[in-house]
Order: sequence, then C-alpha cells, then structure tokens
Amino acid sequence: MIRFPFLDFNYEFGYLYKRLQEICGRVIDSGRYIGGEEVTGFEYELGEFIGSPCVVGCSNGLDALRLIFRGYMELGLLRPGDEVITPSNNYIAGILALTDCGLKPVFVEPDPATYNLDWTLVEDALTNRTRAIMPVHLYGRACPVPAKWKEQFLIIEDNAQACGARVDGKYTGTLGHAAAFSFYPTKPLGALGDGGAVSTDNPELAEVIRALRNYGSDRQYHNIYRGLNCRLDPIQAAMLREKLRWVESDVRFRNLKVDIYNMAIENPLVVKPTIPADRRESMWHQYVIRVVGGRRDDFRKFLLEQGVETAVHYPTPAYLQPCYKEEYGHLSFPIAERLCDEVVSLPMSKATIVDDAAKISEIINYFE
Ligand SMILES: *Cc1c(COP(=O)(O)O)cnc(C)c1O
Repeated sequence: MIRFPFLDFNYEFGYLYKRLQEICGRVIDSGRYIGGEEVTGFEYELGEFIGSPCVVGCSNGLDALRLIFRGYMELGLLRPGDEVITPSNNYIAGILALTDCGLKPVFVEPDPATYNLDWTLVEDALTNRTRAIMPVHLYGRACPVPAKWKEQFLIIEDNAQACGARVDGKYTGTLGHAAAFSFYPTKPLGALGDGGAVSTDNPELAEVIRALRNYGSDRQYHNIYRGLNCRLDPIQAAMLREKLRWVESDVRFRNLKVDIYNMAIENPLVVKPTIPADRRESMWHQYVIRVVGGRRDDFRKFLLEQGVETAVHYPTPAYLQPCYKEEYGHLSFPIAERLCDEVVSLPMSKATIVDDAAKISEIINYFE
C-alpha cells in the first residue's frame, strides 16, 4: 500500500478547489477565451513577483525556450549554427529547443554537489561560435550566474523548476538576459494544464516574442515574422494568478522538509544534497539523493515495499536519447551518466507533510 505518494493532485489542489472553481467560472463568464485581461494580469503579477520588467505568457516551457531562441535570431543576436553551452545533465526540453532552432548544444558537466552547471568548466568549452549559455536551476536549486559570463554571453535561464528560488535576494528568472518558465502541473508554479512564460529585462526581445507567439503578428492580419501559435490560455493564466500567491509559502514549506530529510537521513549508501549557505533561496522542486554502490534499484524497491513512492529525474541524458544518436551519441560525460544511475527523488509535494519526511527518513535508514 502506498503510504507516501510521490505526488497527489487531489491533495495538491484540494485546499484550493472551491477557489479554482470560482475562477474557472469567472473566465467562462468573461467571454474572453484567447488573450485578454487574465493573461496580461498574470504577466504583470509574475513580473512583479520575480522583479522582471517584461513577462510574456506562452503555451509551455519548451515553447518558452523556443521563443527565446527564435526571438534572439530575429534580433540578429543568434544565428543558425551558433553554439550554446548547457549542462550535460539538462532535461531534454532545452536541447530540443536548441536543435529545433538550428543551434548547437555544447555540453558541460554539472557540479555533482549541486547538480547545476559547473562554471569552472565553461572556459574549456568555448569556441569562436559560442554565443550563449543556458544554465538550468535543476530541481529548483538556484544556479548563480557569475557576472563575468553575463558580460560576455547571452545567458538564458531554464527556470522551469525553480519559480520562487533566489540568489542573494534576486529571483531566478532575473539572473540572466532571458528566462523560460514552465507551468506544467507538477512544477513549482503549476497550472491545471500546460502553460509557460518568458521573462527578460530586454523590452525589444519581449516585443518580438509577443509577436512570435501570435503568428508573428504585431497587429491583426499583419505578420512581421514567420511566427508560431504559442499563446497562454486565459483559463490557465487565471489559475496561475491564484496559485502564484502560494509560491512563497511553498518555498518555506519545502525548505522545512529539506531540513528534516537532511537532518534525519543517515545511511552510508545515501548521499544527501549539499546545502549551501544560501539554502533558504532554493525552491527544492525535487529533493534528490544519490544511492551509491549500484544499489539504486534495490533502494527504490525497498522503499516501495514500505509504501514510499520515489522517482528518477532523469534515467538517461539528453545526448544519449535515440533522437540524438547520430549527432551526440558518441559523447560521454561521466558525471551526468553517474547521476543518471544514482539519483532518486523523494516525495516533496504538498501531500508530503513534515512528519512524513521524518518517517520516510527513518525507512531510508533501514536500507542496507
Ligand atoms: C518541465 C521542464 C521544461 C519544459 O516544460 P514544459 O512546460 O513541459 O514544456 C523545460 N526545462 C526543464 C528543466 C523542465 O523541468
């Protein structure tokens, strides 16, 4: 029997159920089902929340990334064949967005202590085609952007997993030049379907992306770009306006559980995530441990027998996926591949209360 589910949407939305129903009614009554006040309202509120001057809502996180790359291409700041540095353990979406736009991902190993891009390795990956760097705030852990790199290259943050995280008080999504958000239901700020957004401090880029997401038109029936249809649904925007109000308390709740896990888990086969001094600033979308000694599958089976559901983010690096076999299948990144073999995500959703984290830790300590 599952005592500790990895995710439980009934629980997740339960406390907001009535509120979300009312909001749905509000959108139905408005008669406005594409664009409109819910979308512009959400864009404004997300911008206020993270401290970004320009937020453009869109259809999902992958499209947010594609819109950023397409936008920079329309502005002449990126060209087909340009290289973009990104961590070797990145989720597939960022790589798909790059190759879709004719850009070339150049992989750099992550720091195994934080799972985030290891900036000390960036220097060696530079070529005369390097134009941008795409750090990922993976698992909701804020990846600081050194000023040195921001001065030289376009920094595009993949902020899909970290809405609400901060570095020195500055929200992720405002650390680079542009950032992509995903509002996939499981993400820190999740809709009741697909959704996404781009944030940027560059009003020109924002304007291009506003047009690109809507057939490339700057006004009705006037197309200045060969655009896409990547609009944010007003029902989702309305849901997100409500859910945005809960992000801050969710950050605190997640950090509390991280404290419990990190204090209570004590097992020589388990490597816990390191907590840097700025730990309060991470969102902890996932709490990811490593199980060493080739025992990951045994560990997950043991936990499941005790009623604890776990997940693996992710079992295969993007560059080894069948769709990239020809271009990148020959590459090898030992740290990324070791992470794929060792990582386990523990329950961290709203359904996991602090007491559960203590009980799950106790079960983990019995594994041998
Ligand atoms: C979820 C996710 C995306 C893509 O978001 P979708 O809304 O599912 O398209 C991109 N990058 C990362 C790191 C993600 O976790």
